Amino acid sequence: MFAVGVRDDLIMGRLTVIATGGTISTGTGADGVHRPSYGAADLAAGLDVDVVDVLALDSSQLVPADWDRIGGAVRAAIDGGADGVVVTHGTDTMEESALWLELTHAGDVPVVLTGAMRSADAPDADGPANLRAALAVAGHPAARGLGVLLCFAGRVLQPLGVTKVATNDLSGFAGELIGTVNGGVTLAGTKTRPQLGDLNAAQAPRVDIVAAYLGSDGVALDACVAAGARGVVLEALGSGNAGDAVVEAVGRHCRAGVAVAVSTRVPGGRVGASYGPGHEMVSAGAVMVPRLRPPQARVLMMAALAAKLPVGDVIARWG
Ligand code: ASP
Repeated sequence: MFAVGVRDDLIMGRLTVIATGGTISTGTGADGVHRPSYGAADLAAGLDVDVVDVLALDSSQLVPADWDRIGGAVRAAIDGGADGVVVTHGTDTMEESALWLELTHAGDVPVVLTGAMRSADAPDADGPANLRAALAVAGHPAARGLGVLLCFAGRVLQPLGVTKVATNDLSGFAGELIGTVNGGVTLAGTKTRPQLGDLNAAQAPRVDIVAAYLGSDGVALDACVAAGARGVVLEALGSGNAGDAVVEAVGRHCRAGVAVAVSTRVPGGRVGASYGPGHEMVSAGAVMVPRLRPPQARVLMMAALAAKLPVGDVIARWG
């Protein structure tokens, strides 16, 4: 079941595997459904690493407080002498957890997230090779000081800007390439390492994502604010636009002190206030998020609000 992907002699230093669930940990029930079934010790069987089970969840079930649990386990591993840490995680929300950990993880010890597209009990499971590759990166001297990394299907990506782009394809993610693992580890790219300090995710203000679409109105935005959102990411149309009813609601909430960030539903799209609706939202106090997809824009906004930093400044720097 656990095939060799990277030579064991490439795994160096004292390493810890922290398991949280996800497809990399799933078995397949008689009903054909994949559910987390294997813990860190199963995933790392035969490898000379320390293992910690923090969660055993499909990553769709995670809540911000789980970032504190994962971050706490990372810190405990480092305090216990780990030279590198690997976190196994479901791919559905890996981009969000990776960015939060990146924003809050200090120090030189690398933290590498990985997962899988195929269940652990699949004959051609990709998890074992991904785990070994992630361990090789976590133990590599060149990874020291790089902060958090994603290692998936032989590629090493930086968290900022990474996004899940496939539900079947083994490559899983698109993002900025920092290196590769192909027999050996090569880390060459320049990495952005955004940091906002040691933040408590459970106490971070609520930030929601609201989608704009043809005919959308302000109902969802109003409901999020009524539910306590201190920030909203608008998944806008095109280069940052929305219908008048949404624009009106954005202006109203901005004036009331709610932070509104404008991203886009266009994959790979860039936003800017170059059309009337976008211009109006920015004039009302909304902030354009130049690069990040809505899920990571939300994480960045949560962290900025939790750090009591101006959302506009943080988004201008890393969004
Ligand atoms: N639903 C799974 C999860 O995110 C998908 C995966 O891990 O690839 O936990």
